[in-house]
Amino acid sequence: MNRKMQRLSDLRARVREVDAPEAFAAAALGAVLLDVRTPDEVAAGIATGALVVDRGWLELRVEALIPDPETPIIVYCAAGQRSLFAAEALDALGYADVRSMAGGLDRWKACGLPIETPRTLDAEARARYARHLRLPEVGEAGQLRLLDARVLVIGAGGLGSPAALYLAAAGVGTLGVVDDDLVDRGNLQRQVLHADDRVGQRKVDSARKTLSGLNPGITVRTYAERVGPDNVAALVGDYDVVIDGTDNFAARYVINDACVRAGLPCVHGAVHRFEGQVGVFWAAAPGGGPCYRCAFPSPPPPELAPSCAEAGVLGVLPGVIGVLQAAEALKIVLGVGRPLVGVLLHYDALQARFRRMQLPRDPACRACGPAADLPGLTDAAVAVCSTP
Ligand SMILES: [Zn+2]
Repeated sequence: MNRKMQRLSDLRARVREVDAPEAFAAAALGAVLLDVRTPDEVAAGIATGALVVDRGWLELRVEALIPDPETPIIVYCAAGQRSLFAAEALDALGYADVRSMAGGLDRWKACGLPIETPRTLDAEARARYARHLRLPEVGEAGQLRLLDARVLVIGAGGLGSPAALYLAAAGVGTLGVVDDDLVDRGNLQRQVLHADDRVGQRKVDSARKTLSGLNPGITVRTYAERVGPDNVAALVGDYDVVIDGTDNFAARYVINDACVRAGLPCVHGAVHRFEGQVGVFWAAAPGGGPCYRCAFPSPPPPELAPSCAEAGVLGVLPGVIGVLQAAEALKIVLGVGRPLVGVLLHYDALQARFRRMQLPRDPACRACGPAADLPGLTDAAVAVCSTP
């Protein structure tokens, strides 16, 4: 017997094996079928319901896939050899109930058991998102989630520019951009979606050109509209996450109220001179969170709320805040980390200092509280706004 045969024989003595029909029955009772073949093999079909992890990444990624070490696991490969090695590795990682499927997927198919073709990234997407695929917290499943996600960026200005660029680059599959304005040379100091040779063009057309050029694999939907009480519900209704990149209080209240009603997370950003802030207002978040009106029940008087046009802003500032908004949106879509729900993160560029402020939910909030009385409120907010 050669060394390989000896090794397999040793493994078979230690690792429990099950036949495919037994594995099928065990899976119906809650055991996890774990496919450890290569991505090319997986693309051709897997046992229905199986989880997939490339053997080369097994030790690094299995804990994220199967957190409970008591979960019964049946590992399989193509013919039942690689799964023996994988089962031994899982045993060493502390999984208590690991078996290998004898004969692998070949035997499963021969028994007429169900196969499914998993959705996988094509070669171009695998290349484009390779650095995401390296992250266990993203991986192929996370990248597919991003590609399925729909994020609406309201405002293609200082905040919306970096947010939209990074969301497009990250592969958010459907990116909506709302802006009724034209590209202005005075905006190019911070609105990096646009370009000097597009001055006078519609911002949404410029945004589409830049974003589609960066990532032709996503869908960019544009809305040359000004967000207001009449169109906001229809705009946000098609999306999973909203990025508020507007620069006036009227729009923020309108967007907040629509997001509260639709149960959507609204990733807020604001900049002023050398300072900015970012937070996630999401009343329907797991565990609940404040909405924008909980934190700011009424807008400040117009003289205390000058717009960028009036007060000025360091060009890089909305870049920092807009990228943080994109990061929060990606976390929400991927379900990783802790989004800034109930936290306002303040950035002071001159002191290079970040500060976190806790924002409690206001039980008497007029938008998200039990006695919400929103109809009509948005009109009141429109009246007290700074210059857009
Ligand atoms: Zn509220």
